[in-house]
Amino acid sequence: MSGAGFQRVAVVGAGTMGNGIAQTFASFGAEVVLIDVLEPALKKGLATIEKSLGRFAEKGKITPADAKAIFARVKPSTTLQDAKSAELVVEAVVEKLEIKRKVFQELDALTPSATILATNTSSISITEIAATTKRADRVIGMHFMNPVPLMALVEVIRGQETSDETTHRVVAASKAIGKTPVEANDYPGFVSNRVLMPMINEAVFCLMEGVATKEAIDTVMKLGMNHPMGPLALADLIGLDVCLDILRVLHSGLGDDKYRPCPLLVRMVAAGRLGKKSGKGFYDYA
Ligand code: NAD
Repeated sequence: MSGAGFQRVAVVGAGTMGNGIAQTFASFGAEVVLIDVLEPALKKGLATIEKSLGRFAEKGKITPADAKAIFARVKPSTTLQDAKSAELVVEAVVEKLEIKRKVFQELDALTPSATILATNTSSISITEIAATTKRADRVIGMHFMNPVPLMALVEVIRGQETSDETTHRVVAASKAIGKTPVEANDYPGFVSNRVLMPMINEAVFCLMEGVATKEAIDTVMKLGMNHPMGPLALADLIGLDVCLDILRVLHSGLGDDKYRPCPLLVRMVAAGRLGKKSGKGFYDYA
């Protein structure tokens, strides 16, 4: 066992979240395999890790030698096969149940039965994901926040069958990587997105209806409510496609129209305006 609680960790999906999760485990001593189906996504993920470690070194939080050693502990791969010796797998692929199901079935078939399979899903049922495996007791939600290296919270979500032992190990591992774990039960959106997404959606409705400009909406929430970021800037950071997917899960899972996604959000995603990651969302990042 390393400082991360798990010596060998695989992270599946090298996007916004996956690369941050990989960096965090590697920073606390774990050997990490970072897996993505797309080579360019993998390259981008590695570049993001290198840049982030460089910033930590510039600020004096780690030495340049530490940054190099941490980066060297992250091994990129384009095949799920490379997860086969991991003690913990954290899945961070796109927020689509069908894709996650397929990934979990493959992970279940190729990793040792003791391996814990965690998902970083923002809103999909842990129980449903777990049910596609033969180890529902060792499947759990490990919901990191963006940007992972900086944000303290990990929402630890127990599925219907998740065992106490799995939960204890994941809570301990979260603490070992410098995070504060909070336990939640498996309902759509858990706590974080059940509370956050209706606020973001309402901000998009305000924009669509011309209640105020995007800058005005964000300023009201920043200066009026002491939020560090306005909801529209935050949506851009999370990814507008991710926000839309989560709202759809809340809408169908809770059956309440108060979660219906704002048509402007749907239109922006259709246009490929996904926020910071695509260079354009409510704001321009070119
Ligand atoms: P992203 O689109 O930035 O990255 C997803 C990555 O998964 C892409 O690089 C894609 O190529 C890869 N991928 C797709 N299918 C794959 C497969 N079968 N095998 C391996 N890789 C595959 O998405 P993201 O924002 O990093 O979100 C990932 C997960 O984290 C989602 O479940 C999301 O809900 C959750 N999440 C996101 C945020 C956020 O702020 N973005 C916060 C918390 C949780």
